[in-house]
Amino acid sequence: MAIKILAADVAAKIAAGEVVERPASVVKELIENSIDASAREIKILIEEGGKKLIEVKDNGEGISGEDLPLTIERYATSKIESADDLSHVHTLGFRGEALASIASVSNMTIGSRVVNSDHGNRISSQGGVIKQIDPVGIPIGTVIRVENLFFNTPARLKFLKQEISERRQILALVFRYSLAYSQKKFQLVMEGKPVLTTSGDGKHLAILGQMYGFNDAKLFLPVDFNEELLGVRGFISPIGLNRSNRKEMTFFVNGRWIQDVSLSSALLQAYHTLLMVGRFPIAALFLDVPPEEIDVNVHPAKTEIRFSNSNRIFSLVQRAVRRTLLKDSSPSAFSPKIWQTFNSLPKIIETGWEMASDIGDQQKMDFNDPSSRASNNEKNPPIFLTGIPLLRLIGQIGATYLVAEGPDGLYLIDQHAAHERVLYDQFTKQMDSATVKQFLLEPITFY
Ligand code: ADP
Ligand code: MG
Repeated sequence: MAIKILAADVAAKIAAGEVVERPASVVKELIENSIDASAREIKILIEEGGKKLIEVKDNGEGISGEDLPLTIERYATSKIESADDLSHVHTLGFRGEALASIASVSNMTIGSRVVNSDHGNRISSQGGVIKQIDPVGIPIGTVIRVENLFFNTPARLKFLKQEISERRQILALVFRYSLAYSQKKFQLVMEGKPVLTTSGDGKHLAILGQMYGFNDAKLFLPVDFNEELLGVRGFISPIGLNRSNRKEMTFFVNGRWIQDVSLSSALLQAYHTLLMVGRFPIAALFLDVPPEEIDVNVHPAKTEIRFSNSNRIFSLVQRAVRRTLLKDSSPSAFSPKIWQTFNSLPKIIETGWEMASDIGDQQKMDFNDPSSRASNNEKNPPIFLTGIPLLRLIGQIGATYLVAEGPDGLYLIDQHAAHERVLYDQFTKQMDSATVKQFLLEPITFY
């Protein structure tokens, strides 16, 4: 067959397929546009799982009557101007193709009013062809209605999942954005019922509570970790709260929802050995990375990015999560009365032999005597814990030492000595209690 250039409408439908995979992808693009327009309130209406209607209404800066027809032109955007801008994108959108793609596979109406105008304008299109533009009286902001999605792409329509699963996807999406943008008010109404409403007060507990129930929401551990110009914030589930699938591991990078295998595996590695095989954590982590260190222009759906130094990001996520988990863990059942941690070891390295002799003094100290503790070297007071923190077992060396990781770093445990200590504690406990004892008739001599 001879080569022919495809007709514009066919090309548009092919391109639309990459951006608009299902109703949830439409909701994502519309919410992102409202966020880019600095909206403080975003209301989403869904009918028939999004197939019949998706409406997103915001109180953002709006679109002027002049610009309105351009919104559904491909590669028309107000967010970047030159190729250079791609290296430091500060908005969620930048490709100027979402509205064009959505319009080409639906009947779309956009109503919008900007601040300095006494009225708004409304444009309607069918399969990407503009039908009408009228002035209308509406509040400042933008309302976009997408009706009969995929009416002209029967192949896509056929592969849509059942309404219930489309609704689930949309709810999961709006929930994630409402967590990531907790300072904005979100309202999601599906099939006439409000299913998620957030107050925009920046408090996450109420949002998590709506998704997981308030009892479980209170258990989530806040993550807050910064290193140089990088930051990780968000929530992770404690080890007791987990799922049988990996769907609830969410990452946002600079406010953008990202699906990234290496970020998920960093999270899973942090939980390694703490969760049973086949169980997965629930997490929503928000990363701040300097914009010039990421490439956001990887795929039209913008859910993939490339990091210029992915190892650094991987390690950051892993350490942030692991520290949060280990810090949270309560001391284990095996708790000697006083336990000296290895926190003082780095000081030995710093101050050399002089400090090493201080450690000798500490060892001679009577740990059970508080006055002895007080008189110890004030410059380098020893640090005490009443128990061993939860440790992540890494392995065993020479069938003798257990290697584990704790909140302070690496732990080497002499297995034999630890076992003796456990037995010793058991025996002392027995001695203290009223165990039946009997003296030997004949003394035994030990050598
Ligand atoms: P992009 O977001 O990549 O620029 P879109 O096709 O999603 O491309 O949107 C095209 C343009 O329409 C945007 O650049 C923006 O100027 C305008 N726009 C879309 N939605 C809104 C909205 N809710 N509020 C204000 N402007 C909007
Ligand atoms: Mg956009």
